[in-house]
Amino acid sequence: MSRVIYPGSFDPVTYGHLDVIKRSAAMFDEVIVGILSNNAKNPLFSIGERKEMLEMAVKDFDNVKVITFEGLLIDYMKKHDISVIVRGLRAVTDFEYELQIAQSNRKVSRDTIDTVFLTTSIEYAYLSSSIVKEYARYGTDVTDFVPDFVAKKLKEKLL
Ligand code: ADP
Repeated sequence: MSRVIYPGSFDPVTYGHLDVIKRSAAMFDEVIVGILSNNAKNPLFSIGERKEMLEMAVKDFDNVKVITFEGLLIDYMKKHDISVIVRGLRAVTDFEYELQIAQSNRKVSRDTIDTVFLTTSIEYAYLSSSIVKEYARYGTDVTDFVPDFVAKKLKEKLL
């Protein structure tokens, strides 16, 4: 069975993330969406809120599971016998960072872990959680970028 993990902050989940999840779910037997809880970034939403929103967003996929993890991704993967990471690539600006992480994960795991990159669908190429938060902070409608229930949560949190 092919199992992959799609890790990230998901603060909050956007249609860009959901596009990667949908395409991965069609390619692999099981997709585990892993929310990193000890991120250096200062998140707007708590880990519980992010998990709740993601779970709601993926509820129609039978083979997608949402988990949270602390510490190193590769430790979580070893413990749960997962050897493939999925990441999304939006633009060249993502490339350098993603390459560095993928190569170091491979090295540290002694070549047991690989990363698969999905290039972003063109309609979401510009989209990031940060941009969505920035718009939402000024009351702009963000329902083109995130599911309605996420837009509502952003409103509650920021306005
Ligand atoms: P991180 O803090 O790990 O970058 P994010 O939640 O910002 O977490 O992103 C998680 C993953 O989703 C990353 O691989 C990122 O490149 C990808 N991603 C984010 N937005 C998009 C998008 N609009 N299209 C495709 N991939 C995306």
